[in-house]
Amino acid sequence: MDAREERLVRNEVLFRELNETIESIAHKQGADDHVFEFVCECSNVDCTLSLPLTLEVYEDTRGAPDLFLVAPGHDLPEIEDVVGEGEGFQVVRKRGAAARIAERTDPRS
Ligand SMILES: [Zn+2]
Repeated sequence: MDAREERLVRNEVLFRELNETIESIAHKQGADDHVFEFVCECSNVDCTLSLPLTLEVYEDTRGAPDLFLVAPGHDLPEIEDVVGEGEGFQVVRKRGAAARIAERTDPRS
């Protein structure tokens, strides 16, 4: 993995941390089927898109350290594969060195 790829993954890790904060606030407010605005966890630090997700969908994805939630089309094929999608979001799985960084920095571990 080169420095550029590492930087891209680190951006995604930051957005994941932000979503963990959003989730902990959301948990105090509503039921699992209520839709909350999470942030796109793509590698573009300037991306400001929000993702409409239920806590149920968010939890299902967050349980795996190498899975991230991004807006449709915001996947980065050089470091990840699209493994699922729903209304207004895609689930991507990190590959190789990107996956190792994602696992090492997993806020749930
Ligand atoms: Zn994005």
